Amino acid sequence: MELNKTSVSAVVENYDNVETRVSAACARAGRDRGEVTLIAVSKTKPIEDIQALIDHGVTQFGENKVQEMCGKEETLVKGLSWHMIGHLQRNKVKYLMGKTCLIHSVDSLRLAQEIQKEAAKADIVCPILMEINIGNEESKGGIPIEEAEVLARQIAELPNLKLKGLMCIAPFVDDPEENRDHFKRMRVKRDELAALKIPGTDIRELSMGMTGDFEVAIEEGATLVRVGTAIFGERDYRRL
Ligand SMILES: *Cc1c(COP(=O)(O)O)cnc(C)c1O
Repeated sequence: MELNKTSVSAVVENYDNVETRVSAACARAGRDRGEVTLIAVSKTKPIEDIQALIDHGVTQFGENKVQEMCGKEETLVKGLSWHMIGHLQRNKVKYLMGKTCLIHSVDSLRLAQEIQKEAAKADIVCPILMEINIGNEESKGGIPIEEAEVLARQIAELPNLKLKGLMCIAPFVDDPEENRDHFKRMRVKRDELAALKIPGTDIRELSMGMTGDFEVAIEEGATLVRVGTAIFGERDYRRL
């Protein structure tokens, strides 16, 4: 990795800028800053960049590949929170147990059942979110929002899973305002599911908002925002 002091300090400066924008969005929405967790999405990014943020006090990181997350988790200091935000293959679930604080991307009963099996083996309760395909895009994972209640009730039956809320990857748009209605519908669905008080669930989280639209997402109720590019710069997938 070609890294130098400038790029590492730029990451810290970028993080502080994003933090300022998160705070401002909370203020605009009349929300407490403590209601929103900023996750630094470090996928494809080197240990040095992550270490700079850790030295700066950052503890919440997001990754979308199991192997990459586990490698970083093992290399870096313990006590960080690693969010699994990417599409998850069932044969990789076992490696995640005990390493991730929250799986954001559960989008089928079969995947939930696999997590149940591995979490039971590891004797842990694994917190998860259900991924909603809010824009009904073929290229994206997630379940149709209409199916959320059925899957929530099925997941509630799995004793080693704790359903904590919903996640979405909104469409990529030029103007983040185009996603405001999607975020609103996510919030309405989260509130509906929470009101059902399904035993075994604790539905409160809304993981939504990325570099292009995290401020609108916060205004519409996001509790977890996943920001990569605005903190770490553009990703270069050719290096992987
Ligand atoms: C990469 C990724 C992000 C971060 O995207 P940016 O646009 O770089 O902020 C957020 N969520 C998921 C699921 C991702 O895969």
